[in-house]
Amino acid sequence: MIVLKFGGTSVGSVENFRKVAQIVQSTAGEKIVVLSAMSGVTNTLVRITDLLKTSSVEEALVLIHRLNEKYLEVAKDLIASDDNYFKAQIVLKRHHEVLLTIASEPFSGKNEKTIMAQGELISTNLFQLYMDEVDGNSVLLSALDFMQIDQHAEPRTEVIQNRLSKVLANHSARTFITQGFICRNINNEIDNLNRGGSDYSASLIGAAVQADQIQIWTDIDGMHNNDPRFVDHTFSVEELSFDEAAELAYFGAKILHPQSIIPAQENNIPVLLKNTFKPESKGTLIHNRARTKKIRAIAAKDNITAIKIKSYRMLMAYGFLKKVFDVFEQHKTSIDMITTSEVAVSLTIDNTSKLEAIKNELQGFGNIEVDSDLSIICIAGDLAQNKKGITSAIFNGLRDIPIRMISYGGSNYNLSFLVKTSDKISVLNILNEGLFAELALEAI
Ligand code: ADP
Ligand code: ASP
Ligand code: MG
Repeated sequence: MIVLKFGGTSVGSVENFRKVAQIVQSTAGEKIVVLSAMSGVTNTLVRITDLLKTSSVEEALVLIHRLNEKYLEVAKDLIASDDNYFKAQIVLKRHHEVLLTIASEPFSGKNEKTIMAQGELISTNLFQLYMDEVDGNSVLLSALDFMQIDQHAEPRTEVIQNRLSKVLANHSARTFITQGFICRNINNEIDNLNRGGSDYSASLIGAAVQADQIQIWTDIDGMHNNDPRFVDHTFSVEELSFDEAAELAYFGAKILHPQSIIPAQENNIPVLLKNTFKPESKGTLIHNRARTKKIRAIAAKDNITAIKIKSYRMLMAYGFLKKVFDVFEQHKTSIDMITTSEVAVSLTIDNTSKLEAIKNELQGFGNIEVDSDLSIICIAGDLAQNKKGITSAIFNGLRDIPIRMISYGGSNYNLSFLVKTSDKISVLNILNEGLFAELALEAI
């Protein structure tokens, strides 16, 4: 079994739906196709939600009607037979009515998740009706029948596996189509795996069926050595180890959802990143036999807040760090980076929803300083500490950039440091010049 996931741009137009169908058809064997919403749709759904939250119902209705018109046009251009076009109209009417009903009710968190799910539910329905015309051997599965998260919003992997195997056993098709991103929560309500979560769905599904490979099809030819949104002359990386891919995804490489590598890694399932618009290019293979490379790629994660706790009582005191960590645990806030000195500890978080409460509690331990608008720069590769010259190669060019924290040696695959977000683009470009310039020229 192969899992193929196509992101928003890959299903962003009628032409692109056709490209996806060609890729699916040219993939041999049994497959599960996981689709995102058409590009821009989830953003529109977020906008609709925000408008309904503030009771701007009229404005929300304008967007809801516009979305429905867009889908009707897509269905008309995509689907040839009267029969399937009629079915598409029924599907679209049903989803349009879901949004209209929610817009007429008082707003609730439950409704928010239902709104957010419409994009994936519609794209998969339309694609299945189209596949029915070109292939005739595909089945639509509702991810709401098998994807579930627990009370901590973590996937219930055993439940997913059991339910999915039962659902699959009911059909004899070669091609299954399902939604990325959406799931049910512990109360059986509609929920989701957070923005960009379709990658995570694909990996969880791949792990549940013990797939031979998980393919992530997107709008770029695999993982690049640096963030192509901010740096020119980046190039595609041919292979990555699971550890390197996990670090890059977690520290901001948008091509992969932060958690998406973990299920594949735990089950040793290779992940292939491919370009829907250039299927002939190699892409990036993530597997456990990747040849090591000193420095593989760079990524950056924004919206980081650093907290420094300065305490002379910390000097020689055991148990101090435990007390600090307990505060973060109580407030369910995870720490990304940490550095210590004899009298102070600095750590970073990206979720600031509990910052005030955390600060208040930490105040009991010493003097607290909080800095925001920071970015973590992550360098991934085979950075084993006995390799000489790596740190000087990295920091040589950064003489004029203030660096707030450095973390190295935690794993063999990552060196990360903290800078002001306003310096991020310069840092990514300087590092590209210093670490990859020759390779970039070769790749052009
Ligand atoms: P999809 O909608 O297919 O899930 P995303 O927009 O989530 O696609 O991810 C693909 C985008 O990730 C690329 O278009 C690119 O701009 C961005 N990106 C950021 N960092 C990297 C990187 N290191 N390598 C490749 N793409 C990256
Ligand atoms: N449609 C969702 C989003 O835009 C999930 C995804 O595309 O991965 O975040
Ligand atoms: Mg994505």
